Formats: sequence, structure tokens, C-alpha cells
Amino acid sequence: MSQVQRMSRLMVKTLRDDPADAETLSHKLLVRAGYVRRTSAGIWSWLPLGKKVLDNISRVVREEMDAIGAQEVLLPALLPREPYEASGRWNEYGDLLFRLKDRKGADYLLGPTHEEIFTQVVKDQCTSYKDLPVMLYQIQTKYRDEARPRSGVLRGREFQMKDSYSFDTTDEGLAESYALHRAAYQKIFARIGLDFRIVSAVSGAMGGSASEEFLAPAGAGEDTFVDCPSCDYAANTEAVTFVAPAVPVTEHGPVEELDTPDTPTIETLAAHLGVEASATLKNLLVKVDGEITAVGVPGDREVDLGKLGEHLAPAVVELVTADDFAGRPDLVRGYVGPQGLKIRYIADPRVAAGTAWITGANKPGTHARNVVVGRDFEVDEYLDVVVVEPGDPCPACGAGLKLDRAIEIGHIFQLGRKYADTFQLDVLGQQGKPVRVTMGSYGIGVSRAVAALAEQSADEQGLCWPAEIAPADVHVVAAGKALQTELALDVSEQLAAAGLRVLVDERPGVSPGVKFTDAELIGVPKILVAGRRSGEGVVELKDRRTGEREELTVAEAIARLT
Ligand code: ATP
Ligand code: MG
Ligand code: MG
Ligand code: MG
Repeated sequence: MSQVQRMSRLMVKTLRDDPADAETLSHKLLVRAGYVRRTSAGIWSWLPLGKKVLDNISRVVREEMDAIGAQEVLLPALLPREPYEASGRWNEYGDLLFRLKDRKGADYLLGPTHEEIFTQVVKDQCTSYKDLPVMLYQIQTKYRDEARPRSGVLRGREFQMKDSYSFDTTDEGLAESYALHRAAYQKIFARIGLDFRIVSAVSGAMGGSASEEFLAPAGAGEDTFVDCPSCDYAANTEAVTFVAPAVPVTEHGPVEELDTPDTPTIETLAAHLGVEASATLKNLLVKVDGEITAVGVPGDREVDLGKLGEHLAPAVVELVTADDFAGRPDLVRGYVGPQGLKIRYIADPRVAAGTAWITGANKPGTHARNVVVGRDFEVDEYLDVVVVEPGDPCPACGAGLKLDRAIEIGHIFQLGRKYADTFQLDVLGQQGKPVRVTMGSYGIGVSRAVAALAEQSADEQGLCWPAEIAPADVHVVAAGKALQTELALDVSEQLAAAGLRVLVDERPGVSPGVKFTDAELIGVPKILVAGRRSGEGVVELKDRRTGEREELTVAEAIARLT
């Protein structure tokens, strides 16, 4: 039998006003309804109601991961530097990584994702092809020092992720493990009640080839995806791969070779240019000594590449032309809209996930030469650059594309042998020879999913949870004094006995109006009111989503709910 949760004993303090710093609906409502509390920038405490929702999502994730034969483990979040040094990510992650030292001065990090550590575990535990395939997962706290930890739990610096990893001896095996995860993710997101799309994605710092994202369409999302109304093409704009000729934006100054010292760090460049090195950086693309290189441009956007050239002397900084990208579709992920090129996204495996390299053209077929961001082209927002315009042709069928905003809630990758190569992860094959293992990695933002669900389902009155993940099945309101309270508690016990999770608002001295407002804000899918007609044993059942209400006898109401 389920327990009845009494509001009088629940630690929840609802707020009438939005928190001052909140930009998104989920942020406002989760704080106002007492689900989460901000501890520091991007660091959140989960209060009783929030913890229930978080646990409900975790439960669904666990059930579906177990169903495909993945085994749950729990690896540490505090990790030694060496494996990340070996994979290159200790440096590649840049400012995103939380690094720390122990008392002896040894370097550690707080895990942002765990490919390295899982590879080591499997290397230790699996020695023969008979031990594979294996799929492992954990639900764990992850740490990323995000540049813009905003939108509440949507983008935390500490957050909950389900991450899993598959280990196979063959490419077909990897494809199978990937397909199992893809199907499990579809079930998970459908069960928790999220509206989602599967789109092709750029693989970012993870490396590897096949990669898809699960996106939850929502205005508050930081991703933009293109969607074809005529065929099944859908992709994150980060992954839209066109190599198109550059189009002039504005012609500026003669193009000459620039002499410069070493590739600048953001700090040295900023110091040289006399601007503040901000965590929010744009990157422009140039060739430094023949290598295509992105140089950071501090957020004030008023950097002249002529000055950059002075700073970089004596290296030779050259024009990057369309030819440099020929045969390198991996490098160019950009798009020329009907209005001409504004901005290009350059994706490179050396760039940390979530970083974009942006170039601008100022002459036909050229990039990033004498370009001043802000003067020659506009950048909307860091990571919010839209490179595709609505109506642009679909790369698969040519129909006009649609563009929508979305929240990335899951991401699946066929990593291949990148990490297995780094850690020499081999097992003894059928022929008695060592076989290199091939891997996949798969993530779900468990805490982010709470915010994504709030974004998609909330209305003016407050949160409005899908049944499977709501903090309770029914919210019983005693709208009156002794008689109503008695009935409310009695009905609550009966509902709990029938297996329902019940929240009952029997707070003495709290007006029915306040109780109703709180019930709407908290967002349990069904609201049962013991009010005016309690004396006749009649209650009112209200559907939180539709607002439909009907008067029923207690027995009818219980039958309706169970
Ligand atoms: P984003 O593009 O939003 O920064 P990501 O691509 O860096 O996310 P992954 O490395 O693919 O994230 O991690 C797997 C999942 O973890 C993501 O799909 C997302 O749901 C979740 N996630 C990533 N970063 C955060 C964060 N800062 N706060 C909450 N959830 C996150
Ligand atoms: Mg992403
Ligand atoms: Mg990221
Ligand atoms: Mg991702």
C-alpha cells in the first residue's frame, strides 16, 4: 500500500513570484513550485517533490536499460587525470572540465562523461570474445563547467546523466548495440511523456561516426534542428553538412599575408587587443603556417584581424579558401542560405563538444580575412548561431526545410575504436588472436529531462506532469474545515490502499483558494476536491491538463482513478 503524503508535513514552500534570474518557464515553475532550489550558479538542490520526479525518470530509464540487457554499475565521479591525459581530453575539454588537486598535489577531475573509465573497466574485466558483447550503464552526477549555466536544471554545471557504453568485437555487433539503445531511448522518452524527434548529430569531441540526438522540441531549447516536411530528413543544424561556395558579405581592405608569433591563447590575444578575455568566445578561422586554425575572439566582437596578424607574427596567417575544405566534409558543417553566407560552422574533432568554430566570408571564396565580427556579420548568440534558413532546400529531397528549437535530451554515438585504441582494449578472438574492441556511447540527461518535460507540459497555472513521472497520481484538496478534511483524508487512505500515490492538502488555516492555486502549480495530473458537498459524500474530480471537472460520489471517484 502506498503512503499518503500530507501537505502539512511536506517540505514545500511555493512562491507567487518568479525568481528574478529565471528566463525559462521550467526554471520559474520548478523553483516556484518548490521542486528545486538554487545552491550556486548551475548547481541545484532537489527538494522532495523534485526528487520524486527525478527518481521516476530514473526508474523508467533503468527498466528500459535493463530490458535490453545493459548492466548497471556505478563508477566514481572523482577521477584521476591519467586516463583523460591518454585520450587527450584533459586538454581538449578546456574550461569545461572541473580540475582539482589532492593533498599530495596530484591532478584530478570531476567526470564530464566516462568513456575512458569504462574502457579501463572492461579491459580489466573482459578478456575473451566470449565476454562480449557487454553493455554497461550508470545513472550518475556529471560535472561540466558550462560557460552559460542558465535555464535552471536544463543546463547545470552539476547534473544527472544516464550514460551507457557498449563493447563489441565486430562492426555489426556495434550496429546492433546501437540499435538496441536507439529503440530503448524511444521507449523511455515515450513512457515519460516527452514529445521528441531523432535527428542526425555532429559527433563533437567524442569522435566516431554515426551519431544521433534525441531532441525535445521546445522554445527554451538551445539547439536548432532542421526538419523536412517531405521526407524523413531531420538534423541538428550543427550537423547539416553542405559544402557550398562562399558568398561575399562586404569587401574590406586588401588581403595580405600577416606575420605573427605562436597561435594565441584567448588570454594572450585578449591582452594584446586590450579587451577582456570572456568565457564567451567566438572563433574565427584562419590558416596559421598552413594549418587551418581557429582563433578565439573575445565576446565583445570588435576584434580586427589586422591586429590579430600583428599579434601572431612571425607565423604566416593566410586566407582560408573554399579549396581548403575540398574533400573535407568533416571540417565544414555550414550552409549558405538564399541570402548568401552569413556564418559557417566548422566542426573539428579537436574541438570540445559544444564549441563551434565560426567563419565569416568577406570575399568570394574566402573566409575570416579582415573580418570584424559585428561589422561584417552578426552573431546571434554563442552556440545559438542559425546557419540554415527556413525554406532552404532539404539535402535529401530538395523540399523547403523547417527550423525548430529543441532541447537535447539524449545522444547516441557509434564511437568505433577511438578509446579502444587509446587503451589497447583487445579481447582474445575466436581464432585465438587478439581482436580490438569497438564501442558505442549513449547518454540521457536525466535531470535535464525534468526541465524538458516541464517546458513541454506546463501552462499558465503551473506545472502539469505526465502521469508516469508526476510526483503523485492524485492531489486531494480539503477545501473547507473539519468535515472536508475528514473526507479528504478518508478518500486519500482508500486511494493509497488501491495503490495510488496520494498527496493530500489538509493544511489547517490555509484557504481553499491558496490550496487550489498550489495544486495547479505543483501539477499532479488529477485533483480531487472535498468541498461544498462533502456532507453528501460528493467530491469533485478535476483533470489538471484539460481543466474538466465532474462531481462524483467517493466510490465513483475512486473507481475512476483506479
Ligand atoms: P549540450 O549540447 O546541451 O551542451 P552535450 O551535447 O554537450 O549537450 P552530451 O555530451 O551529448 O551533451 O551528454 C549527453 C546528455 O547529457 C545530453 O544529451 C544532455 O541531455 C545531457 N546534458 C549535457 N550537458 C548537460 C548539462 N550541462 N546539464 C544538464 N544536462 C546535460
Ligand atoms: Mg549537444
Ligand atoms: Mg555541451
Ligand atoms: Mg550531445
